[in-house]
Amino acid sequence: MRTGDDVVDVAIIGAGINGAAVSHALAAAGYTVTLIERGDIGGGTSQASTMLIWGGLLYLKDFEIRTVRALCRDRDRLLVEAPDQARPCEVRHVATGHARPAPLIAAALHAYWALANGRRTRARRLTSFGEQALLRDRTARAFAFEEGTLVESDARFVLDLVRRAEALGAAVRTRTAVEGIGPHAAGSSRLALRDTLTDAPSTLDARVVVNAAGGWADTVNAAAGIATPWRHVLSRGVSLALPREAAHDTHLVFDTADGNALTLAPWGPVAVWASTESLHATMDEAGRIDASDVTGLLETYNAHFAAGRGVDDVVSLRIGVRPVPVARDRAVDTRGLGLSRHHRLHLDRERPWLTVFGGKLSGSRGLAAEVRALLATRLTPSRARPRPSTPPVGPRDATFPGLPGAWVAPAWAAAHEHCRTLDDYLRRRTAIAQWLPRGGFGRRDEHYAAVEAIARALHPHDAGAAARDLADYRRRVDADAQILQAARQLASCASLGVPA
Ligand SMILES: Cc1cc2nc3c(=O)[nH]c(=O)nc-3n(C[C@H](O)[C@H](O)[C@H](O)COP(=O)(O)OP(=O)(O)OC[C@H]3O[C@@H](n4cnc5c(N)ncnc54)[C@H](O)[C@@H]3O)c2cc1C
Repeated sequence: MRTGDDVVDVAIIGAGINGAAVSHALAAAGYTVTLIERGDIGGGTSQASTMLIWGGLLYLKDFEIRTVRALCRDRDRLLVEAPDQARPCEVRHVATGHARPAPLIAAALHAYWALANGRRTRARRLTSFGEQALLRDRTARAFAFEEGTLVESDARFVLDLVRRAEALGAAVRTRTAVEGIGPHAAGSSRLALRDTLTDAPSTLDARVVVNAAGGWADTVNAAAGIATPWRHVLSRGVSLALPREAAHDTHLVFDTADGNALTLAPWGPVAVWASTESLHATMDEAGRIDASDVTGLLETYNAHFAAGRGVDDVVSLRIGVRPVPVARDRAVDTRGLGLSRHHRLHLDRERPWLTVFGGKLSGSRGLAAEVRALLATRLTPSRARPRPSTPPVGPRDATFPGLPGAWVAPAWAAAHEHCRTLDDYLRRRTAIAQWLPRGGFGRRDEHYAAVEAIARALHPHDAGAAARDLADYRRRVDADAQILQAARQLASCASLGVPA
């Protein structure tokens, strides 16, 4: 077994948005940091969001004033400081179906605007808007208000932060699982690591460990023997990418019967219909898409939109698990009603171990600043603050048949963006897998040769590795196809109002 590298100030477990933001904040403060991710950067829940940088409007129903204020502040800061990553966008809250009464919506939107100190444009009532023509109820009204949306994608947002952290000196190890944790000399921890592609073991010694493993954080804590006053409730969120209609210009929001909301988000050539929300006991269970998730989403879509969509229209599936923090001994009902969406941090009294509970893309900067402040009570950075530095930007010169636009080339992504597999490239470095059916292969495999060429570009000196990558990727795509097949059967057996 390889012995540990020199002791780093902080080892961060998990390169989702939380781990990425914390790595960046700590590296900028002068800490030596290693970010460890067992899969790909942004390969967990952070690749499955609705891509809104929002102030948490929905949480006003539970009077979560503190959370909403904090999220609004983070949203507005990000919109000013990172216009290349997030931009303001109009959201249209459409009053159909289970919509709350108009005066209530107007009052909530006014309060929302005021909680953000009026930094966004005021909400206004729309009697006509472009997407009206797409609705079943063409007389429906809407309220327009302003939020933020990611310029490119959630996965790229995370990757961008990780690369900025690297430019400030952070080390990043992907395809590296933390499998064991024990005490080490002088109060530090020793992490037992395993390369998930080669199986090679190694160790890393760290003065402090930050557990930012999202929905897996409780499992990691249990393995390390860390007890916390918080735990996660796991809420599955499945979304569908459907063909985008020409008149679909901006985010549409619809109230649901259970007090939540569904969103139709325009994203390149697709519209993401998001999402389900169901609680599950384990990550294995929560991270699986059921056929009924697909048919349920299509049913609600068809209740709102005139063009009936069926299973055959689904371009791609997205799944993430919202890690929602709750007090450890709190019992939660099956609907998870009244759960606070505010993140929590826990710094162990005895061991140098900090756990992040909850957290969103929208509030990631604020969360990372809180982690930095909490850590400063225990640990002084071992080096001076690094000079501001930005990572190199790759040329956007790669194209793919059937899609407009251009992306960084596979070879560049492999060399500069920790891109190791076809799934990394087609799903997260680009959106090809989500914008074209069957993971980019196309409905009749018409793009097979293009996908194969990417596999060869990612593994230029190893034809065997390219073939294995292609076969693995194919299996993933086939697994989604099986879910859709099951959904087709479900739709044809039951009278769900969903064309098979
Ligand atoms: C459907 C849906 C829509 C959403 N929409 C929005 C939105 O519009 N705006 C918004 O702000 N938020 C949104 N969210 C919430 C947001 O996406 C999540 O809260 C956030 O992405 C969670 O990030 P994370 O870093 O905690 O977890 P993750 O992204 O899951 O990252 C955790 C990482 O830890 C890694 N890991 C786990 N165990 C180990 C180990 N032992 N060793 C090494 N690595 C490990 C995992 O591989 C994973 O990559 C949405 C969530 C869902 C489900």
